[in-house]
Amino acid sequence: MGDKLAWIDESLEDLKESGLYTHIRTIESPQGPWLVVDGRKVLNFCSNNYLGLANHPRLVEKAKEAIDRYGVGPGAVRTIAGTLSLHLELERKLAAFKGAEAAISFQSGFNANLATIPALADRGDLIVSDELNHASIIDGVRLSRADRAVYKHCDADDLKRVLEEHKGKHRRLLIITDGVFSMDGDIAPLDKIADLAEEYEAILMVDDAHGEGVLGHGGRGIVDYFGLHGRVDIEVGTMSKAFGVVGGYVAGNSKIVEWLHQRGRPFLFSSAMTVPDTAACIASVDILQESTELVDRLWDNARYFKGEMQRLGFDIGHSQTPITPVMLGEARLAQKFSSRLYEEGVFGTAIGYPTVPKGKARIRVMISAAHSREDLEKGLEAFAKVGKELGVIG
Ligand SMILES: *Cc1c(COP(=O)(O)O)cnc(C)c1O
Repeated sequence: MGDKLAWIDESLEDLKESGLYTHIRTIESPQGPWLVVDGRKVLNFCSNNYLGLANHPRLVEKAKEAIDRYGVGPGAVRTIAGTLSLHLELERKLAAFKGAEAAISFQSGFNANLATIPALADRGDLIVSDELNHASIIDGVRLSRADRAVYKHCDADDLKRVLEEHKGKHRRLLIITDGVFSMDGDIAPLDKIADLAEEYEAILMVDDAHGEGVLGHGGRGIVDYFGLHGRVDIEVGTMSKAFGVVGGYVAGNSKIVEWLHQRGRPFLFSSAMTVPDTAACIASVDILQESTELVDRLWDNARYFKGEMQRLGFDIGHSQTPITPVMLGEARLAQKFSSRLYEEGVFGTAIGYPTVPKGKARIRVMISAAHSREDLEKGLEAFAKVGKELGVIG
């Protein structure tokens, strides 16, 4: 009898042979600079908890208070009976923090993209996308029925070429880019892209998942970083990274936000953010609104770590943000490096194809404001030891 799922065994075997099988580790402690992973205490170099907010006492307290008042579940989608006063408070505070006209929250950043892109572009429209945009943008584009074109990564001249080539052939234009590219840590040339969006009358959308809480004054994101307030129609953000909780949002033009209340499918057809998540997100926006301390510490830590890694002789790519890709090339080497680091008490996962191109495997180190100088030194020591052992540095 044939096995209709035999192809899965074969495909999994292929992944394992090529070093591309993802081994998922289990975390048994709160998120922080150190984690208990599969029973072992290790230095955390791979979470997106940039500011150390994931286990911050104020967030925990706010979540508990909210549970006492509202319970846990939202009970419905936002448009039926799931909109709590907490959701509206979060959206007001996010808009104020971002200096945007309005904001709308979603269950995740992924959902924010799936909601927004098909609501803005349909048959007869054209979406123009950076070739390295995040998977959730790619999926959002696929869900829309619009035509699509890609431009070379972070290349405004190539974007202009694409816009020129398609000029006059579509009803509406939508340009989409990541703000900070998560695997390389480089920043989209949003100032130049905004000029082109105006010239070609395109709607402009930036997904700033890795820039929120990181870039701009006190972590206000990429629009603030470039001083482009009012010139970017849509900023997608996530509350799952620097904000330390889970959830996504769109901040920007109030007409677009109103439209997403009517036509953002995950908003209409998937239940609202839960009570504790929403309350904890409010607390993280409050913390960022009050002080730039955590964001400043994040950047100090990142500058120190990146400088020392370069001094050791590692290739850390061209990151402009705290994301630090340690370039290793072959996926198998990256996996070997990662498991040796783990034995040395450092948790840094290997990232390979399809998350990054073939031959560009790496360990992506995520620096956090929660790391102390001693933590970073401990990490550097382990990188130096394993790097020499595996012939990556001299
Ligand atoms: C992480 C990420 C997302 C997804 O955000 P979640 O809130 O985790 O769903 C979307 N876009 C980009 C660019 C990201 O890096």
